[in-house]
Amino acid sequence: MEKKTNGDMMEELEQTLKPYRDSFPSYTRLPHRGRNKHVILAEMQELKSREESKWKDGFVSGAVYHGDQEHIDFLNKVYALNSQSNPLHSDVWPSTTKFEAEVVAMTAHMLGANEVAGDPASADEVCGVVSSGGTESILLAMKTYRDWARAVKGIREPEMIVPTTAHAAFDKAAQYFQIKMIRIPVNDQFKADVAQTAAAITPNTVVLVGSAPSFPHGTIDPIAELSELARQAGVGFHTDACLGGFILPWAAKLGYAVPSFDFRLPGVTSISVDTHKYGYAAKGSSVILYRNPQLRRHQFYTTSVWPGGFYLSPTFAGSRPGALSATAWAAMVAIGEQGYMEIAKKILETAAVVKEGIAAIPELYVLGDPLWDIAFGSQTLDIYKIMDHMSAKNWSLNGLQDPPAVHICLTHRHTQPGLAERFIADLQAAVEQVKQNPDQETGGVGRLYGLSAQIPVKDVIDEFLKQYIDLLYKV
Ligand SMILES: *Cc1c(COP(=O)(O)O)cnc(C)c1O
Repeated sequence: MEKKTNGDMMEELEQTLKPYRDSFPSYTRLPHRGRNKHVILAEMQELKSREESKWKDGFVSGAVYHGDQEHIDFLNKVYALNSQSNPLHSDVWPSTTKFEAEVVAMTAHMLGANEVAGDPASADEVCGVVSSGGTESILLAMKTYRDWARAVKGIREPEMIVPTTAHAAFDKAAQYFQIKMIRIPVNDQFKADVAQTAAAITPNTVVLVGSAPSFPHGTIDPIAELSELARQAGVGFHTDACLGGFILPWAAKLGYAVPSFDFRLPGVTSISVDTHKYGYAAKGSSVILYRNPQLRRHQFYTTSVWPGGFYLSPTFAGSRPGALSATAWAAMVAIGEQGYMEIAKKILETAAVVKEGIAAIPELYVLGDPLWDIAFGSQTLDIYKIMDHMSAKNWSLNGLQDPPAVHICLTHRHTQPGLAERFIADLQAAVEQVKQNPDQETGGVGRLYGLSAQIPVKDVIDEFLKQYIDLLYKV
């Protein structure tokens, strides 16, 4: 096996990440005179057309969740109408605050806010804010629990208890806000272990977390049990429904087995849910919901002593793109319950074809019991090489680790007729290729995961990933 140096790998990567260096003008300083707008638009049109077919034809896991041209055109019109709006100036654009308040209210209603099962005498009243994406929603929630616990319980060394499969955004929150993160292993069904979670609760615990479902394996943690632990301990419970919030309510109505995960469980105190995923809004919006306004208060920032005047902001940003909130509102109102249900039905039916197809390939197995975000591995073959062969067939899948696996997160793009069958046929062929030549180097992203499994020092990988980011910002 040939050994590649880090330098070789970075050089190869640079080739793939910077494909336009030779064919398009690039800038490291402002052009002296502004360029012709028609030329700029034509150039962008060309870039778009080079990149569009891959996601539009459904070869990408996740990423674009609706993507029908008619829907895109509608969102673009909505964006254009609202492109100057900034909810920071709520006096100038009360339309934007109307959109945001209604996006929150509709999302809360969808997730059981009207059936809150808490003490009827309590002041529970589900509320929330619009953020820029799932990560921001999660960061906001974790900061809120940290500050809540400090103010209400005097906790100075906060801890959060998080399943290993929860999104990286929780680890990011732990790093940003100096919260100690206790990682809870998952069981053989890739669901958070309830007993180990119970055992991890300490007087410093501020919040427990569960996913509905998790990004890697699409499995739903035992939210009822976990949130009850949190309720009994008097701490917060966050359901990460970034991926599932706009699918699970409809899946349940369609008769799929969906365990409880939302505000109908009395212990659930916050939920993150992404309008820019299965809410089918333009990229850049999400909702963070809280069980009551008292909890949400700990998220807000205000200052009354700044020479710049009284200042307030609900989220991390100051100025915000009101147009993106407008697209979330417009998508929700245009699609409606029936529309969401119809798309969910198609996605879930496509998922059944994909799951059956994978199960019929003897070398592969599906991890856990996913509904539509499907991870698969192999006991006998290098799954990363299979992923590389899939890449060569134009499929952009996501590599997973611990255990080695690959997933495809199905969206509306994958419900195009015949595509699930094409996926399975390509997967069969990829498996056959690796079976015939198990030692052949495949040389894609898969190789990096293979390498990662071999390199004992994770710092080396982290350093590599940071170099990757450096590379992104090279002209
Ligand atoms: C996508 C996702 C997130 C993070 O969302 P971003 O919008 O990418 O920041 C968090 N949790 C889960 C389960 C997700 O699928």
